[in-house]
Amino acid sequence: MTQESGGFAALGLHPNVVAALTAVGYEEPSPIQAQAIPVILSGQDMIGQAQTGTGKTAAFALPLLSKIDPSKREPQALILAPTRELALQVATAFESYSKQMPGLNVVAVYGGAPMGPQLKAIRQGAQVIVATPGRLVDHLRRDEKVLSTIQFLVLDEADEMLKLGFMDDLEVIFEAMPASRQSVLFSATLPHSIRAIAEKHLRDPQHIKIASKTQTVTAIEQAHLMVHADQKHAAVLRLLEVEEFDALIGFVRTKQATLDLAAALEAKGYKAAALNGDIAQNQRERVIESLKDGRLDIVIATDVAARGLDVPRITHVMNVDMPYDPESYVHRIGRTGRAGRTGRALLLVTPRERRMLQVIERVTGQKVGEVKLPNAQQVLDARIKKLTSSLAPLVADAEASHGDLLDRLTADIGCSPRALAAALLRKATNGQALSLAEVEREQPLVPGAGGSRERGERSDRGERPDRGDREGSRERRAPMPLAEGRARCRTALGARDGIAAKNLLGAILNEGGLAREAIGRIQVRESFSLVELPEEGLDRLLGKLKDTRVGGKPLKLRRYRED
Ligand code: AMP
Repeated sequence: MTQESGGFAALGLHPNVVAALTAVGYEEPSPIQAQAIPVILSGQDMIGQAQTGTGKTAAFALPLLSKIDPSKREPQALILAPTRELALQVATAFESYSKQMPGLNVVAVYGGAPMGPQLKAIRQGAQVIVATPGRLVDHLRRDEKVLSTIQFLVLDEADEMLKLGFMDDLEVIFEAMPASRQSVLFSATLPHSIRAIAEKHLRDPQHIKIASKTQTVTAIEQAHLMVHADQKHAAVLRLLEVEEFDALIGFVRTKQATLDLAAALEAKGYKAAALNGDIAQNQRERVIESLKDGRLDIVIATDVAARGLDVPRITHVMNVDMPYDPESYVHRIGRTGRAGRTGRALLLVTPRERRMLQVIERVTGQKVGEVKLPNAQQVLDARIKKLTSSLAPLVADAEASHGDLLDRLTADIGCSPRALAAALLRKATNGQALSLAEVEREQPLVPGAGGSRERGERSDRGERPDRGDREGSRERRAPMPLAEGRARCRTALGARDGIAAKNLLGAILNEGGLAREAIGRIQVRESFSLVELPEEGLDRLLGKLKDTRVGGKPLKLRRYRED
């Protein structure tokens, strides 16, 4: 075990859970985790006030997994989530945290998918049920005993559940569970209706909230960029083209993410390195020294590894992954603007994390303005500007030293000085795109997750439920239109496994023996991915891909039903 997962071990979690965390790459508990885990382990009921991005899922999943008995093949924990998407995310999180717990099974129960397989999984003894309320009530109507063995209940995003009109369903569910269960409620806000539920159904709950002191951040210019989780690397690369930085520190959440992003930057020619808790202390010091003296310009770090880092050259802090709370944001961006200099802090925000951005703005008392991804023209202008400033100082004495050589080369080659200068430029810029058409071709990013919601991860939110259609409309994200003859399939591999669309494409092409055109849209999300495949022969294809691994992990592609 690394010293960092010790932070989790000290909380009293089961060693198998701690071992899985080491594999996932978490170094330290987030503030909500540090507070909630001991309370849940102690068996007390709890109310946690936290929003997405704080690490709340692990805050309840880790202690529950530590308490569940995998040898008992019956439902023990029920997690209720407002939407199908959240239910799937939570189920995926439970799966990854229980990797070292043989015999532990998780079932996701949500509307829009057939009920039979869900019920079968419950009856076969899945210990963890992650469900949306409406569909769970449908199951209870068929079998009122489904929840009779539940010992732990979590209401996740309780305020959202009430907004979506699930109040009555919740009452039915509460009634179907043993009164002796332990109950935990997570909610970003605590309106009267939530307090009333807590009063009625929780026993002497402990209230946990991450205190937010107002913080001031002066001398630091802040901006945020809306981006989809699967496009963060590309967005960072493009931002760096136009940001004029001296040294930059980028913050991510996991060790793997430090390695992946540092490698992507190095591949583009940046002097970049990773800094995480797995790197030996003397090597960490070398990285920091190199950043100080200019042998490195970029360090990609986890919060833990960057503790105490003080490098006056840092002009930019990039929050590639959202910090867990405003304090940690303020702490991170304080790495720049040192010694009276001004600094710039950039924050990448995925659609799910908008709320965290608002919290940061409230706590810091400052608006964090939005920047857009630079377009091809801006990238080109920045590249030419850099080229100009690198060549300008050389021009003054180059003619004296190399003028004669130029004459000789143009005569020998039989070309004009302009043609020769152009050839030298091409060589010096290593084939970098330096015309608008070329730059446009190398920028396949979908710009601005901000305004348009066509790929928003929570486009299902905020729409009032259609009472006539139980779950159909309220649980389903507006499905993307599927081309005729195509079926949508899902894998639990996502961006957090270091997977990109091209990895999935490559694996399916190679092992499925398909033509490129046969594969439709591939959407890589944080914790899962969706791939469009031909309906015809789908079962055979999935059979062929049965043992396929991507990035060392099993692909396990399954049909994903929309309705
Ligand atoms: P949540 O607030 O539960 O939606 O979690 C937000 C993200 O933080 C997820 O991608 C988690 O995988 C990640 N995460 C949660 N806890 C930790 C931790 N202790 N260290 C690093 N990443 C974490």
